[in-house]
Amino acid sequence: MTAHDVLNPATEEVLTHVELFDVEATDAAIARSVRAGQSWRSVSAADRAALLRRFSDVVADHQEELAQLEVRNAGHPVGNARWEAGNVRDVLQYYSGAPERHTGRTIPVAGGTAMTFPEPIGVVGVIVPWNFPMPIAGWAFAPALAAGNTVVLKPAELTPLTAMRLGELALEAGLPTDVLQVLPGAGNVVGQRFVTHPDVRKVVFTGSTAVGRSVMSGCAEQIKPVTLELGGKNANVVFADSDLDAAAAAAPMGAFDNSGQDCCARSRILVQDSVFDDFLARMEPAVRAVAVGDPASEDTDMGPLISAQQRSRVEGYLQDADILMTGSRPDGPGFWMAPTVVRARAASDLVFTEEIFGPVTAVLPFRDEEDAIRLANETAYGLSGSIWTRDIGRALRVARGVEAGNLSVNSHSSVRYSTPFGGFKQSGIGRELGPDALDAFTETKTVFIADN
Ligand code: NDP
Repeated sequence: MTAHDVLNPATEEVLTHVELFDVEATDAAIARSVRAGQSWRSVSAADRAALLRRFSDVVADHQEELAQLEVRNAGHPVGNARWEAGNVRDVLQYYSGAPERHTGRTIPVAGGTAMTFPEPIGVVGVIVPWNFPMPIAGWAFAPALAAGNTVVLKPAELTPLTAMRLGELALEAGLPTDVLQVLPGAGNVVGQRFVTHPDVRKVVFTGSTAVGRSVMSGCAEQIKPVTLELGGKNANVVFADSDLDAAAAAAPMGAFDNSGQDCCARSRILVQDSVFDDFLARMEPAVRAVAVGDPASEDTDMGPLISAQQRSRVEGYLQDADILMTGSRPDGPGFWMAPTVVRARAASDLVFTEEIFGPVTAVLPFRDEEDAIRLANETAYGLSGSIWTRDIGRALRVARGVEAGNLSVNSHSSVRYSTPFGGFKQSGIGRELGPDALDAFTETKTVFIADN
């Protein structure tokens, strides 16, 4: 094990040191997970449900503590961080209702009866990025545990603290030892070991499309199932018939929430040409009004970026860009960046095609409905998007035409624990959340009983 400095991105100060797992320690944790699974899979559905409810209650009791920890470790504004801790509570609560409803079927067949059993897969390896450390962890571990699996979870090196605390709270809630283990470590060490270790039977990965691709090809060696939640380059499509004031007021935070470090960020704004200039004029005050600063302050809309490296990566996209408008940013230490709106020169412009993952959004005009759908789909990604119009027929036509997993009309919300979440095309494989999430953590076994 090696010690690793964890920074506060708002101050650049070292918060704490975390011991990173190496391959040997990872293998030992996986072996413990296999052993824990032998008894966890036979805990009755009612008892598993009760334990998840208790885990949810303990998270609720520690919501403020978890939120404050995320403010310090990830630089998330405190209001966002409270929502994120509350989301873990809610997701646990939602999936605590699942074990007792997770049943098989009997199927009439010739010569006897066939029945199916939803069986746990075994050890599930969860690899979590730094942008939403708590929710993304909970979206995987809650349904995986509900379905009777054990979990080894690797948080991002930059943001391990809330996941480590959630691991402790699981024990406090009475979950058996080693059923949920949190293993801080490097992606190419711990994460990679989840891919190659034969006792890890499923991998859930959220992060960049490049690493997701390598996780998937590694898992193919053992025909290991994967759920992948990858990048996005999501379109916010604004029609001339929309409530332009509402669309212009909402567009900045649709792109800049979590400093734009969000796979659902609306980082492409498509505006119908007849209202293009009008829309930009209405949006400018909202961009200037984004409060960028101390994430611990209740009034802050946007905190720092996660690291110096991420900030210089994002700033790289602005070198040769046509900047239309910017907001403000604090001076001094911290990985700060001002929210920035750029004019894309064409749909092939890098600012319009690449996942920038920072507070940068690109605007481009479109002609008509057909043109809007064509431009929205001119991307390798397909995660989310928004459509602003007062015409319900158009809203549905465009929603059906855009190749993305999560679309919202006259809103930018993408995530609800009770509805499926995931991407088309290179935004991923599989769906998280919603009523069917346990299917991704289940093997279906069919048993036939002859009636002779
Ligand atoms: P990565 O995809 O590298 O990281 C995501 C997670 O995967 C982290 O826990 C990381 O570990 C782990 N990881 C890294 N390499 C491997 C590997 N070889 N095998 C298994 N796991 C691995 O994202 P970055 O942090 O490098 O961010 C780069 C860009 O990726 C961002 O700018 C953004 O564009 C995109 N991204 C998208 C996200 C999304 O939600 N869609 C989330 C995060 C990033 P560790 O970092 O601890 O070494």
